[in-house]
Amino acid sequence: MPRAPWHDAVRTAAYGMITPDQRRAAQRTVRARAAAHGIALLHELAGPELSSADDLRDAIELGRTEPGPQIVGYWGELGGTARARELGALGAAGDIFVDGTIGSHTACLRRVYADLDTRGSGYLSAAQIRDHVVACAQAGLQAGFHAIGDGAVEAVLAGFEAAAEQVGHAVLRAGRHRIEHLEMTDPPMVARVAALGVYASVQPAFDAAWGGPDGMYVQRLGRDRAATMNPFGALAALGVPLVFGSDTPVTPIDPWGTIAAAVHHHNPAYRLSADAAFAAHTVAGWRAAGRDGVGELVAGAPATFAIWQVDSDHRLPELVPGGRWPVCRGTVRDGITIYRP
Ligand SMILES: [Zn+2]
Repeated sequence: MPRAPWHDAVRTAAYGMITPDQRRAAQRTVRARAAAHGIALLHELAGPELSSADDLRDAIELGRTEPGPQIVGYWGELGGTARARELGALGAAGDIFVDGTIGSHTACLRRVYADLDTRGSGYLSAAQIRDHVVACAQAGLQAGFHAIGDGAVEAVLAGFEAAAEQVGHAVLRAGRHRIEHLEMTDPPMVARVAALGVYASVQPAFDAAWGGPDGMYVQRLGRDRAATMNPFGALAALGVPLVFGSDTPVTPIDPWGTIAAAVHHHNPAYRLSADAAFAAHTVAGWRAAGRDGVGELVAGAPATFAIWQVDSDHRLPELVPGGRWPVCRGTVRDGITIYRP
C-alpha cells in the first residue's frame, strides 16, 4: 500500500469507528474463508498505520482460542521490537514501508518511471534499516520490510548487509528475516538476497494482475523493466527461500490462483514448476513462521493438511489461469478439523 499522511489519517479515523465486536466478527470471517481455501496458517501483517495493536492482539488471541487457521503476527513498526514482543508477534516486520507501490508511482525506483517524471518515494535509509535489523536480531525477532522498487530493495539489501557486519552473517541467516514483495531487482541484487539468507515473501497474483505486454507494469516502467518484475524463477535458482502470500486485501485469498500465476508467469524465464510453487505456498509458509516439518505429508509431522478434489489423475492438476481449481473438501490443523463443506 502507498504511504501518504492524509491516507493514513483517513484510515485511522475509519478504523476508529469500528467496534471491537465488529472487528472480531471480521477476523472470524477471514479465518473461516481461509480455512475453506485449505489454509491452516495465516501471516497477519499488522502495523500502527495499517491496523492497530488491538487488532493484532485480538487476531492472535482468536488463533489461540477458537478453531480455525493459526495466526502468526507481524508488527510493522520501525524500532517497534518492544511492542512486537508485547503483542506476541513473531517479528517487528511485515509492511514496514521502505517505499510505496508501482501503480501509485510511489515505489522507489533507481530510474524515473516511464509515464511520470519521478523516481517515487523512499521512506527509509539503509542506516535506519540496519539499526532495525540489529535490534530485531538482538531481541530474537524477525525483521522485515515492504520493498517493491529497485531503489527500495537496494536500501533494504544495504541495510541487511550492514546489520550482518554487526551481528554476524550466521546469526543474520538464522533469523529468517524477510522482504515483502521484492518485485523489482536485477541479477546482482538477487545474488545478494541469496547470500543474506533472507526470505522473499512474494505475491504471484501481482504478475497475473499487472504483468504481460499490456499490463500496468509496462505502462509505468516500459517493456524492459516490466520484464524483470517478480523474478520467482531467478530467486529460486539461487536458493532464495520463496514464500507465497496473497497480500489480501490487495489481491484475494486464492491459493490455487497464486500457484497457477507462478507456474504461468508472464515471463517464461521466471516460471516455477508446479511442485516448487506448491512448496512455496505450503511448507515454506510454515518455515517462514519458524515451524519446520509442517505442511508435508510425512510420518511424524503434525496432522495439518487440506483435502482436495481434483478432476484428473495427475498429482497436481493442470493449472491454467482461470481454469478449474481443485475444490477443498476439508482442512485440518493439528488434528482438528477447521473446515468441512
Ligand atoms: Zn506491503
